[in-house]
Amino acid sequence: MIKRYFEDIWIGIYSTLVGMGITWSHLFTKKVTRQYPDSYNPNTDPARPDFIRNRLFVDMDLCIGCMICQRNCPVNCISIETIKAVKEDPQAVKSNGSKANLWVNKFDIDFSKCMFCNLCTEECPTDAIYMTKEFEYSEYDRRNLLYHFSVMNNDQINDKKKLLEEEKAKKAAAAKAAADKSEGK
Ligand code: SF4
Ligand code: SF4
Repeated sequence: MIKRYFEDIWIGIYSTLVGMGITWSHLFTKKVTRQYPDSYNPNTDPARPDFIRNRLFVDMDLCIGCMICQRNCPVNCISIETIKAVKEDPQAVKSNGSKANLWVNKFDIDFSKCMFCNLCTEECPTDAIYMTKEFEYSEYDRRNLLYHFSVMNNDQINDKKKLLEEEKAKKAAAAKAAADKSEGK
């Protein structure tokens, strides 16, 4: 009984000494705590991995408006609108030389809903949408997390809509003329 009593005392002292030894050893080692964001340096702090998921970016010069990313998004945070490009439109050519069949007049991503699942990027046929390494984009007002990627202004959008309406009117007139002709009018 007395032996057990002194064993317990020794175990208590020993474990305290071991614990304090670890504590004291840390007093003399180099500290690694980073005072983020005050001392954060993107050039010297560890690089973020290649496949990290952060804020998305959309290269509108590559986007063909296929809407695959919008359909794949499980939380509906991508919103795309397009205008059909008419055949005679001289501007409907992408930088890689391919012809654009659609003008993307709206491409919004609401990052307040995005859960960074990456499903939108995986099936993009032109790699127009991708994850960046940017993670510092907090906002006080969640409305600022709605990002607009389309580069078309209102005048351009109205021009494209007008061209499309004109093409539709021409097609309708041609169809009517063909129908009249077949009826012998
Ligand atoms: S999947 Fe790619 S090409 Fe298609 S709309 Fe999205 S970003 Fe544009
Ligand atoms: S990462 Fe996921 S949630 Fe975010 S926009 Fe892409 S598909 Fe939607």
